[in-house]
Amino acid sequence: MQSEFELIGKYFANLGAKRADVRIGVGDDGAIVMPPAARELVVVTDSLVEGVHFPVGTSAASIGHRAFAVNLSDLAAMGAEPAWALLALTLPRADEPWLDEFARAAGDLCRRHDVALIGGDTTRGPLSITVTMMGIVPIGMALERGGGQAGDAIFVSGSPGDSAAGLALEQNRLHVADAMSAQILRDRFLFPTPRCEVGLALRGLASACIDVSDGLGGDLEKLCAASGCGAEVDAAALPISDALAQAVGRELAREYALTGGEDYELLFTVPLARLGAMTNAIARGLGPVTRIGSLVPGGGVRVFTRGGVMQFSGAGYDHFAR
Ligand code: ADP
Ligand code: MG
Repeated sequence: MQSEFELIGKYFANLGAKRADVRIGVGDDGAIVMPPAARELVVVTDSLVEGVHFPVGTSAASIGHRAFAVNLSDLAAMGAEPAWALLALTLPRADEPWLDEFARAAGDLCRRHDVALIGGDTTRGPLSITVTMMGIVPIGMALERGGGQAGDAIFVSGSPGDSAAGLALEQNRLHVADAMSAQILRDRFLFPTPRCEVGLALRGLASACIDVSDGLGGDLEKLCAASGCGAEVDAAALPISDALAQAVGRELAREYALTGGEDYELLFTVPLARLGAMTNAIARGLGPVTRIGSLVPGGGVRVFTRGGVMQFSGAGYDHFAR
Protein backbone atom coordinates (compact mmCIF):
# COMPACT_ATOMS: atom_id res chain seq x y z
CA MET A 1 0.00 0.00 0.00
CA GLN A 2 1.46 3.33 -1.01
CA SER A 3 1.06 6.52 0.99
CA GLU A 4 -1.07 9.42 -0.18
CA PHE A 5 2.10 11.32 -1.08
CA GLU A 6 3.45 8.47 -3.18
CA LEU A 7 0.15 8.22 -5.03
CA ILE A 8 0.08 11.97 -5.72
CA GLY A 9 3.68 11.80 -6.93
CA LYS A 10 2.94 8.84 -9.16
CA TYR A 11 -0.30 9.95 -10.77
CA PHE A 12 -0.63 13.72 -10.41
CA ALA A 13 2.80 15.34 -10.06
CA ASN A 14 3.34 15.49 -13.83
CA LEU A 15 -0.18 15.27 -15.19
CA GLY A 16 -0.92 17.22 -18.36
CA ALA A 17 1.28 19.63 -20.30
CA LYS A 18 4.68 20.94 -19.22
CA ARG A 19 4.44 24.71 -19.27
CA ALA A 20 7.33 27.16 -19.00
CA ASP A 21 5.12 29.55 -16.99
CA VAL A 22 4.76 27.12 -14.06
CA ARG A 23 7.50 28.03 -11.56
CA ILE A 24 6.26 25.66 -8.84
CA GLY A 25 3.68 22.94 -9.49
CA VAL A 26 2.63 19.96 -7.37
CA GLY A 27 4.76 19.51 -4.23
CA ASP A 28 4.77 22.74 -2.28
CA ASP A 29 2.01 24.33 -0.19
CA GLY A 30 0.93 26.33 -3.20
CA ALA A 31 1.68 26.53 -6.89
CA ILE A 32 3.38 29.53 -8.49
CA VAL A 33 2.58 30.48 -12.07
CA MET A 34 3.67 33.46 -14.13
CA PRO A 35 0.68 34.95 -16.00
CA PRO A 36 1.66 36.96 -19.08
CA ALA A 37 1.52 40.75 -18.80
CA ALA A 38 -1.54 42.68 -20.01
CA ARG A 39 -3.79 39.65 -19.87
CA GLU A 40 -6.82 38.78 -17.78
CA LEU A 41 -7.19 35.47 -15.95
CA VAL A 42 -10.46 33.58 -16.31
CA VAL A 43 -11.06 31.17 -13.41
CA VAL A 44 -13.65 28.38 -13.48
CA THR A 45 -14.54 25.39 -11.31
CA ASP A 46 -16.92 22.47 -11.62
CA SER A 47 -17.59 19.38 -9.51
CA LEU A 48 -18.64 15.90 -10.55
CA VAL A 49 -20.32 13.79 -7.85
CA GLU A 50 -20.95 10.08 -8.29
CA GLY A 51 -24.64 9.33 -8.67
CA VAL A 52 -25.40 12.97 -9.45
CA HIS A 53 -23.24 13.89 -12.45
CA PHE A 54 -22.39 10.39 -13.61
CA PRO A 55 -23.96 7.00 -12.90
CA VAL A 56 -22.37 4.65 -10.35
CA GLY A 57 -20.07 2.34 -12.32
CA THR A 58 -18.95 4.91 -14.90
CA SER A 59 -15.39 4.15 -16.04
CA ALA A 60 -12.50 6.03 -14.46
CA ALA A 61 -11.45 7.10 -17.97
CA SER A 62 -14.77 8.82 -18.58
CA ILE A 63 -14.74 10.48 -15.15
CA GLY A 64 -11.16 11.72 -15.64
CA HIS A 65 -12.01 13.06 -19.08
CA ARG A 66 -15.28 14.73 -18.07
CA ALA A 67 -13.93 16.36 -14.89
CA PHE A 68 -11.48 18.33 -17.03
CA ALA A 69 -13.66 18.64 -20.16
CA VAL A 70 -16.47 20.46 -18.32
CA ASN A 71 -13.98 23.05 -17.06
CA LEU A 72 -12.35 23.40 -20.48
CA SER A 73 -15.85 24.02 -21.83
CA ASP A 74 -16.42 26.87 -19.36
CA LEU A 75 -13.11 28.44 -20.42
CA ALA A 76 -14.08 28.00 -24.08
CA ALA A 77 -17.38 29.78 -23.41
CA MET A 78 -15.38 32.72 -22.02
CA GLY A 79 -13.01 32.77 -25.00
CA ALA A 80 -10.06 31.96 -22.73
CA GLU A 81 -6.97 29.94 -23.57
CA PRO A 82 -6.65 27.18 -20.94
CA ALA A 83 -3.43 27.09 -18.92
CA TRP A 84 -3.48 25.70 -15.37
CA ALA A 85 -5.65 23.30 -13.35
CA LEU A 86 -6.16 22.19 -9.75
CA LEU A 87 -7.75 18.87 -8.81
CA ALA A 88 -9.61 18.18 -5.54
CA LEU A 89 -10.24 14.47 -5.45
CA THR A 90 -12.34 12.61 -2.88
CA LEU A 91 -12.01 8.84 -3.16
CA PRO A 92 -13.59 6.00 -1.17
CA ARG A 93 -10.27 4.08 -1.32
CA ALA A 94 -6.84 4.23 -2.95
CA ASP A 95 -7.59 2.04 -5.96
CA GLU A 96 -4.48 2.13 -8.14
CA PRO A 97 -5.94 0.74 -11.37
CA TRP A 98 -8.74 3.30 -11.02
CA LEU A 99 -6.27 6.15 -10.37
CA ASP A 100 -4.12 5.06 -13.30
CA GLU A 101 -7.06 5.06 -15.72
CA PHE A 102 -8.40 8.36 -14.34
CA ALA A 103 -5.02 10.11 -14.58
CA ARG A 104 -4.31 8.75 -18.05
CA ALA A 105 -7.59 10.11 -19.50
CA ALA A 106 -7.26 13.44 -17.67
CA GLY A 107 -3.62 13.74 -18.76
CA ASP A 108 -4.40 13.03 -22.41
CA LEU A 109 -7.07 15.74 -22.50
CA CYS A 110 -4.89 18.25 -20.60
CA ARG A 111 -1.90 17.72 -22.90
CA ARG A 112 -4.15 18.18 -25.94
CA HIS A 113 -5.14 21.60 -24.57
CA ASP A 114 -1.75 22.60 -23.11
CA VAL A 115 -3.04 22.52 -19.53
CA ALA A 116 -0.65 21.79 -16.63
CA LEU A 117 -1.98 20.31 -13.38
CA ILE A 118 -0.32 22.49 -10.74
CA GLY A 119 -1.87 21.22 -7.51
CA GLY A 120 -4.86 19.89 -5.69
CA ASP A 121 -6.07 18.00 -2.68
CA THR A 122 -6.75 14.34 -2.00
CA THR A 123 -9.21 13.14 0.65
CA ARG A 124 -11.12 10.00 1.53
CA GLY A 125 -14.91 9.94 1.16
CA PRO A 126 -17.69 9.35 -1.40
CA LEU A 127 -16.34 9.69 -4.97
CA SER A 128 -16.33 13.32 -6.05
CA ILE A 129 -14.03 15.34 -8.26
CA THR A 130 -13.62 19.10 -8.36
CA VAL A 131 -11.40 20.71 -10.96
CA THR A 132 -10.48 24.39 -10.96
CA MET A 133 -9.02 25.75 -14.15
CA MET A 134 -7.46 29.03 -15.14
CA GLY A 135 -7.23 30.48 -18.62
CA ILE A 136 -5.78 33.55 -20.24
CA VAL A 137 -7.47 36.19 -22.36
CA PRO A 138 -6.35 39.59 -23.72
CA ILE A 139 -7.79 42.39 -21.56
CA GLY A 140 -11.42 43.08 -22.47
CA MET A 141 -11.64 40.26 -25.02
CA ALA A 142 -13.43 37.61 -22.94
CA LEU A 143 -16.85 36.45 -24.13
CA GLU A 144 -19.72 37.14 -21.71
CA ARG A 145 -23.35 36.02 -21.52
CA GLY A 146 -24.75 39.52 -21.38
CA GLY A 147 -23.48 41.06 -24.62
CA GLY A 148 -26.25 39.93 -26.98
CA GLN A 149 -28.65 42.40 -28.65
CA ALA A 150 -31.96 42.01 -30.47
CA GLY A 151 -31.23 41.17 -34.11
CA ASP A 152 -28.08 39.13 -33.39
CA ALA A 153 -27.94 35.69 -35.00
CA ILE A 154 -27.86 32.67 -32.65
CA PHE A 155 -25.46 29.79 -33.35
CA VAL A 156 -24.70 26.50 -31.66
CA SER A 157 -21.66 24.24 -32.10
CA GLY A 158 -21.78 20.48 -32.70
CA SER A 159 -24.98 18.47 -32.38
CA PRO A 160 -26.81 19.08 -29.08
CA GLY A 161 -28.98 16.29 -27.69
CA ASP A 162 -26.52 13.47 -28.32
CA SER A 163 -25.16 13.52 -24.80
CA ALA A 164 -28.58 13.39 -23.11
CA ALA A 165 -29.48 10.40 -25.27
CA GLY A 166 -26.11 8.83 -24.40
CA LEU A 167 -26.83 9.23 -20.68
CA ALA A 168 -30.31 7.75 -21.14
CA LEU A 169 -28.67 4.77 -22.85
CA GLU A 170 -26.13 4.42 -20.01
CA GLN A 171 -29.01 4.41 -17.51
CA ASN A 172 -31.11 1.95 -19.54
CA ARG A 173 -33.88 4.55 -19.91
CA LEU A 174 -33.51 4.41 -23.69
CA HIS A 175 -33.06 1.44 -25.99
CA VAL A 176 -31.70 1.84 -29.48
CA ALA A 177 -31.67 -0.96 -32.00
CA ASP A 178 -28.76 0.38 -34.07
CA ALA A 179 -25.61 -0.52 -32.11
CA MET A 180 -23.39 1.94 -34.01
CA SER A 181 -25.67 4.93 -33.25
CA ALA A 182 -25.96 3.82 -29.62
CA GLN A 183 -22.16 3.72 -29.24
CA ILE A 184 -21.72 7.17 -30.81
CA LEU A 185 -24.30 8.64 -28.42
CA ARG A 186 -22.82 6.95 -25.34
CA ASP A 187 -19.39 8.30 -26.26
CA ARG A 188 -20.79 11.80 -26.62
CA PHE A 189 -21.89 11.59 -22.96
CA LEU A 190 -18.84 9.74 -21.64
CA PHE A 191 -16.20 11.72 -23.57
CA PRO A 192 -17.58 15.16 -24.50
CA THR A 193 -15.44 17.41 -26.72
CA PRO A 194 -14.87 20.85 -25.19
CA ARG A 195 -15.04 23.46 -28.00
CA CYS A 196 -11.88 25.34 -27.07
CA GLU A 197 -10.84 26.23 -30.62
CA VAL A 198 -14.31 27.58 -31.41
CA GLY A 199 -14.30 29.69 -28.23
CA LEU A 200 -10.93 31.25 -29.09
CA ALA A 201 -12.03 31.99 -32.66
CA LEU A 202 -15.15 33.75 -31.37
CA ARG A 203 -13.17 36.55 -29.68
CA GLY A 204 -14.09 39.75 -31.46
CA LEU A 205 -16.85 37.94 -33.39
CA ALA A 206 -19.49 36.81 -30.89
CA SER A 207 -21.49 39.31 -28.85
CA ALA A 208 -22.42 36.73 -26.18
CA CYS A 209 -21.56 33.11 -25.43
CA ILE A 210 -22.53 30.36 -22.96
CA ASP A 211 -21.73 26.66 -22.89
CA VAL A 212 -24.65 24.24 -22.98
CA SER A 213 -24.59 22.22 -19.78
CA ASP A 214 -28.24 22.30 -18.71
CA GLY A 215 -29.92 22.00 -22.12
CA LEU A 216 -29.93 24.35 -25.10
CA GLY A 217 -33.34 25.91 -24.34
CA GLY A 218 -32.59 26.60 -20.69
CA ASP A 219 -29.10 27.91 -21.37
CA LEU A 220 -30.43 30.13 -24.16
CA GLU A 221 -32.88 31.52 -21.58
CA LYS A 222 -29.90 32.38 -19.36
CA LEU A 223 -28.08 34.11 -22.23
CA CYS A 224 -31.28 36.04 -23.05
CA ALA A 225 -31.86 37.05 -19.42
CA ALA A 226 -28.26 38.28 -19.13
CA SER A 227 -28.52 40.13 -22.47
CA GLY A 228 -31.95 41.64 -21.75
CA CYS A 229 -33.68 40.22 -24.79
CA GLY A 230 -35.61 37.21 -26.07
CA ALA A 231 -34.89 34.53 -28.64
CA GLU A 232 -36.62 32.84 -31.54
CA VAL A 233 -35.34 29.43 -32.57
CA ASP A 234 -36.23 27.55 -35.75
CA ALA A 235 -36.65 23.91 -34.68
CA ALA A 236 -35.97 22.74 -38.24
CA ALA A 237 -32.53 24.41 -38.13
CA LEU A 238 -31.36 22.52 -35.02
CA PRO A 239 -28.29 20.47 -35.98
CA ILE A 240 -29.35 16.89 -35.26
CA SER A 241 -26.68 14.22 -35.62
CA ASP A 242 -27.35 11.23 -37.85
CA ALA A 243 -26.82 9.00 -34.81
CA LEU A 244 -29.51 10.78 -32.78
CA ALA A 245 -31.98 10.94 -35.69
CA GLN A 246 -31.36 7.26 -36.35
CA ALA A 247 -31.77 6.39 -32.67
CA VAL A 248 -34.94 8.28 -31.70
CA GLY A 249 -36.34 9.87 -34.88
CA ARG A 250 -36.26 13.55 -35.87
CA GLU A 251 -39.16 14.72 -33.67
CA LEU A 252 -37.81 13.33 -30.41
CA ALA A 253 -34.26 14.26 -31.47
CA ARG A 254 -35.28 17.94 -31.46
CA GLU A 255 -36.66 17.51 -27.97
CA TYR A 256 -33.34 15.99 -26.83
CA ALA A 257 -31.50 18.86 -28.50
CA LEU A 258 -33.60 21.52 -26.73
CA THR A 259 -34.01 20.00 -23.28
CA GLY A 260 -31.16 17.49 -22.88
CA GLY A 261 -28.02 18.51 -21.08
CA GLU A 262 -24.31 17.86 -20.69
CA ASP A 263 -23.68 18.80 -24.32
CA TYR A 264 -20.74 21.11 -23.62
CA GLU A 265 -21.38 22.78 -26.94
CA LEU A 266 -21.10 26.56 -27.32
CA LEU A 267 -24.24 28.63 -27.79
CA PHE A 268 -23.39 32.13 -29.00
CA THR A 269 -24.69 35.20 -30.77
CA VAL A 270 -23.18 37.21 -33.62
CA PRO A 271 -24.26 40.76 -34.58
CA LEU A 272 -25.57 40.99 -38.16
CA ALA A 273 -22.70 43.37 -39.02
CA ARG A 274 -20.23 40.56 -38.26
CA LEU A 275 -22.09 37.75 -40.05
CA GLY A 276 -19.78 38.13 -43.07
CA ALA A 277 -16.72 37.71 -40.84
CA MET A 278 -18.46 34.75 -39.19
CA THR A 279 -19.10 33.12 -42.59
CA ASN A 280 -15.41 33.61 -43.43
CA ALA A 281 -14.36 32.08 -40.12
CA ILE A 282 -16.57 29.05 -40.81
CA ALA A 283 -15.06 28.74 -44.31
CA ARG A 284 -11.57 28.84 -42.76
CA GLY A 285 -12.48 25.89 -40.53
CA LEU A 286 -13.87 27.45 -37.35
CA GLY A 287 -15.54 24.13 -36.60
CA PRO A 288 -19.03 22.69 -36.68
CA VAL A 289 -21.40 25.60 -35.97
CA THR A 290 -24.98 26.13 -37.13
CA ARG A 291 -27.28 29.16 -37.09
CA ILE A 292 -30.51 28.28 -35.26
CA GLY A 293 -32.32 31.60 -34.79
CA SER A 294 -32.18 35.23 -33.70
CA LEU A 295 -32.32 37.36 -30.59
CA VAL A 296 -35.45 39.50 -30.48
CA PRO A 297 -36.73 42.36 -28.31
CA GLY A 298 -38.52 41.32 -25.11
CA GLY A 299 -37.71 38.14 -23.20
CA GLY A 300 -38.05 34.37 -23.16
CA VAL A 301 -37.28 31.69 -25.71
CA ARG A 302 -39.77 30.70 -28.39
CA VAL A 303 -39.23 27.72 -30.65
CA PHE A 304 -40.92 27.69 -34.07
CA THR A 305 -41.96 24.28 -35.37
CA ARG A 306 -44.14 23.20 -38.26
CA GLY A 307 -46.92 22.58 -35.72
CA GLY A 308 -46.74 26.03 -34.14
CA VAL A 309 -44.76 27.93 -31.53
CA MET A 310 -43.47 26.49 -28.27
CA GLN A 311 -42.57 28.61 -25.27
CA PHE A 312 -39.78 27.51 -22.99
CA SER A 313 -40.44 27.50 -19.26
CA GLY A 314 -37.73 26.55 -16.81
CA ALA A 315 -36.22 23.20 -17.71
CA GLY A 316 -38.71 22.27 -20.43
CA TYR A 317 -41.08 23.84 -22.87
CA ASP A 318 -44.76 23.62 -23.63
CA HIS A 319 -47.08 24.45 -26.46
CA PHE A 320 -47.85 28.12 -26.60
CA ALA A 321 -49.90 28.83 -29.71
CA ARG A 322 -50.70 27.19 -32.98
P1 ADP B 1 -0.94 20.53 2.17
O1 ADP B 1 -1.12 19.59 3.31
O2 ADP B 1 0.20 21.47 2.33
O3 ADP B 1 -2.20 21.20 1.75
P2 ADP B 1 -1.08 18.23 0.50
O4 ADP B 1 -0.42 17.19 1.29
O5 ADP B 1 -2.56 18.28 0.49
O6 ADP B 1 -0.49 19.63 0.93
O7 ADP B 1 -0.56 18.16 -0.99
C1 ADP B 1 0.80 18.11 -1.29
C2 ADP B 1 1.02 18.60 -2.69
O8 ADP B 1 0.34 17.75 -3.59
C3 ADP B 1 0.49 20.01 -2.93
O9 ADP B 1 1.35 20.64 -3.86
C4 ADP B 1 -0.85 19.77 -3.57
O10 ADP B 1 -1.21 20.84 -4.41
C5 ADP B 1 -0.60 18.48 -4.33
N1 ADP B 1 -1.80 17.63 -4.51
C6 ADP B 1 -2.52 16.98 -3.56
N2 ADP B 1 -3.51 16.27 -4.09
C7 ADP B 1 -3.45 16.47 -5.42
C8 ADP B 1 -4.21 16.03 -6.53
N3 ADP B 1 -5.27 15.21 -6.40
N4 ADP B 1 -3.85 16.45 -7.76
C9 ADP B 1 -2.80 17.30 -7.91
N5 ADP B 1 -2.04 17.73 -6.92
C10 ADP B 1 -2.35 17.33 -5.68
MG1 MG C 1 0.51 23.01 3.30
